[in-house]
Amino acid sequence: MSQFHILGYPRIGAKRELKFAVEAYWKGQQDENHVQTVAATIREQNWQVQKQHQAAFISVGDFSFYDHVLDILVAVGAIPHRFGFNPQQLSLAQYFQLARGNAEQVAMEMTKWFDTNYHYIVPEWSVDTEFSLNADHLIQQIQQAKALNHAIKPTLLGPISLLFLGKEKGSSFNRLDLLPKLLPVYKALLAQLKAEGIEWVQIDEPILTLDLSAEWLAAFLPTYKALHQEGLSILLATYFGDVSEHLALLQDLPIQGLHIDVVRAPKQIDTFVENWSKDKVLSLGIIDGRNVWRADLRKILDKLTTIKNQWNNNLWLAPSCSLLHSPQDLSVEEKLDTTIKSWLAFAQQKVEELSVLNKALNQGEEAVSNELFLSYAAAEDRRTNKRIHQDAVKARLSQLPKGADQRKSPFATRIAAQQAWLNLPLLPTTTIGSFPQTSEIRQARAAFKKGELSLEAYETAMKKEIAHVVQVQEELDIDVPVHGEAERNDMVEYFGEQLSGFVFTQFAWVQSYGSRCVKPPIIYGDVSRPTPMTVKWSSYAQSLTKRPMKGMLTGPVTILQWSFVRDDIPRSEVTKQIALALNDEVLDLEKAGIKVIQIDEPAIREGLPLKRKDWDTYLNWACEAFRLSSSGVEDSTQIHTHMCYSEFNDILPAIASMDADVITIETSRSDMELLTAFGDFKYPNDIGPGVYDIHSPRVPSAKEVTHLLRKALEVVDAKRLWVNPDCGLKTRAWPETIDALKVMVQVAKQLRKEL
Ligand code: GLN
Ligand code: ZN
Repeated sequence: MSQFHILGYPRIGAKRELKFAVEAYWKGQQDENHVQTVAATIREQNWQVQKQHQAAFISVGDFSFYDHVLDILVAVGAIPHRFGFNPQQLSLAQYFQLARGNAEQVAMEMTKWFDTNYHYIVPEWSVDTEFSLNADHLIQQIQQAKALNHAIKPTLLGPISLLFLGKEKGSSFNRLDLLPKLLPVYKALLAQLKAEGIEWVQIDEPILTLDLSAEWLAAFLPTYKALHQEGLSILLATYFGDVSEHLALLQDLPIQGLHIDVVRAPKQIDTFVENWSKDKVLSLGIIDGRNVWRADLRKILDKLTTIKNQWNNNLWLAPSCSLLHSPQDLSVEEKLDTTIKSWLAFAQQKVEELSVLNKALNQGEEAVSNELFLSYAAAEDRRTNKRIHQDAVKARLSQLPKGADQRKSPFATRIAAQQAWLNLPLLPTTTIGSFPQTSEIRQARAAFKKGELSLEAYETAMKKEIAHVVQVQEELDIDVPVHGEAERNDMVEYFGEQLSGFVFTQFAWVQSYGSRCVKPPIIYGDVSRPTPMTVKWSSYAQSLTKRPMKGMLTGPVTILQWSFVRDDIPRSEVTKQIALALNDEVLDLEKAGIKVIQIDEPAIREGLPLKRKDWDTYLNWACEAFRLSSSGVEDSTQIHTHMCYSEFNDILPAIASMDADVITIETSRSDMELLTAFGDFKYPNDIGPGVYDIHSPRVPSAKEVTHLLRKALEVVDAKRLWVNPDCGLKTRAWPETIDALKVMVQVAKQLRKEL
């Protein structure tokens, strides 16, 4: 008999109930009781799904009010001293303060969970970090789960990953040295689980899919020997990549089971099926936990049937990773096209798929013949459906002329042609694209979407806003103005709504951090651009000024990264399709007289593979896609790109290979440190380092901006330097926006005189 289980379930609620409860609590509109009740209901519903489908266990410990890394930090008492909280008596209010900050303390840092769009709270390690057990929250959940009368498998982030994923603060030391102090607390935690009658515990060590040094790898054996002593059966879970290089190490660990991700890393299945001890559990992550596609169950069964015969009881089926990363329930979608809906599976449907697979293995395929047929029919439809496959798009990509991703001339020639008509002063000023999204703008858009505002009235409202933004920039004397992006709800959704091959859901929310959720578009088919998307707005803006209006697009890699992507063709191919669709827009903008065009790529860096050996392949196609979107224009047309949030030091050659005429980057918070890397690298094209932080309403002083620009001038030739904020201004209000831009322009003018 095989079994099935999951590594974790979405916890925000099918209609984001937890989000609303928690936010109401933060605002003081609801008390803690309310939040606790909503949380308990969500957990109960999640467990019911697993129980009803006869999962081997219900998963406990995957629920969190904010973040599961923060939860384990709280459970082992490792909250930063700076908050002054007693780890043994942490209230819910204090828990949230750790994540969100309070009057005295800034919040703990947050960063992306591996290569997902989920953000975890980064542990703060110092030499004197102390640990103490406070597992009440987990134990209470286990006690709640017991009411369901079903086997329980708690899940925990493992001690080595927990240390690894944190940051060392203060005097220099190695966070791995904290392990001897941390381990006894994990042991005590397991002992408590044992006392609760738990048999199996899932311990996640996802860092095994990263590049790990020998020192970190060496920590595994002693750690798991120690944990083993507590007498629980340990399922060590790995996900997001291949761990076959660690086969020998994993075989030596005194664990009772191993979970591997065979969606992301399908090749490792053979290694483990052949070599993993048949006396231990092998959990195969065969259903994609990170995407929205319905699985082709028959195809999976073909593979599993042969494996199962060798394995007997120790084969477990599972999603590749926690279902935290997929939306919760497809069945609540009311407006989704039924054909497309039949191709999808969200968390609840993935549990159903696992249950079908498991039944097929144990009772024979006849037991689930109908389910298997439907899954097969959906897969077959996706393989052939004309709505997915546009021959013209495929042909265009496969027949790209040589040099389609190259500008006509090298940068030196282009920039001369551009300056000839742009006639810009030294240190030209510009902004990143968006201007404040006021509540009037949002209301107009909402009313238009609901059908309460006519298209005409909506367009008039947007034009009024654009005219205002252009006039403000005229008055500020900004050299290269923008139209302000009033008409855009979101930088990906806006384009997805107009490109073919995209679909939007009503409720497919995925937790991004805390109560914040995102609803990524779904790219289901070949991408093309039926009609111009931005030309009308940019042309209108251009008609209001003699200055060169900068057109504004979201780049192919960013559109890809922030969507659920089809899995039937490589991501590189999807990206290039998007690139060609965007290129149509670029050429149309140029034709309409918009000859400065910015293509934003803030998500280039987050697409980097987890292992360094895979970086080059990714960067090659990602940068090629950007070039495909931006080529074919005249030398005199100036292409800008913009990136934020991240460090680029280690990928500068790739960024240079994108060959944008101008790149604007976020640098003010790092005191221009990032720019130094561009200087050292001798980045060849124009650069606009952000000269003030747009994340807060604070207006920078002329002194600060001057300081930053002078620093920039030390590393970048004055002829190559632009002056702009760090990022778009959409989250800011008008008064501070104007004041800050005034300072920026004034400083640029002052410095010009000195050059
Ligand atoms: N053009 C976008 C804006 O100004 C860029 C946003 C981003 O980089 N994240 O809002
Ligand atoms: Zn930005």
